[in-house]
Amino acid sequence: MYIYKTQHPQGHPTNLKTPMTTPEKTNLIYHYPFSCGSCYIGQTGRHMADRIQEHSADIRLRDRPRKTERGKSAVHVKDHRCEAHCDDAQIICSAGNTKRKREILESALIHHCPTRCIAQPSFSVPTVWLDLCKAEATRLFESVICFAKK
Ligand SMILES: [Zn+2]
Repeated sequence: MYIYKTQHPQGHPTNLKTPMTTPEKTNLIYHYPFSCGSCYIGQTGRHMADRIQEHSADIRLRDRPRKTERGKSAVHVKDHRCEAHCDDAQIICSAGNTKRKREILESALIHHCPTRCIAQPSFSVPTVWLDLCKAEATRLFESVICFAKK
């Protein structure tokens, strides 16, 4: 559970405690598994459902030509002949409200992921810094059911 600032109906800012899966939540790190045991970890400043929908569409249309290269998940599913379980996507944690903050945390989580993560960090953080985040990353992964099972 995380506390985040939200807008009171009357316009007064207030702190509300909300479940991790609250659909209106933005600025977060999410993940979803593949049938082969690998996983994808990503960050978004938008709602997870919107970003996941884009992943799903990209994966579904993986054989159609496109001007730019398809995402890592689409390429993985195509090469690996496995399935992406986008419907099982889960929020790992809240992240900062700037893209760079989210990218740094995303890099740390990809680096410390307990399963094989196919995602490529969008921002390259030196390993020595990523190692400093190990305890925090481990704690976050333990709070996500899908990882805790392993
Ligand atoms: Zn796979």
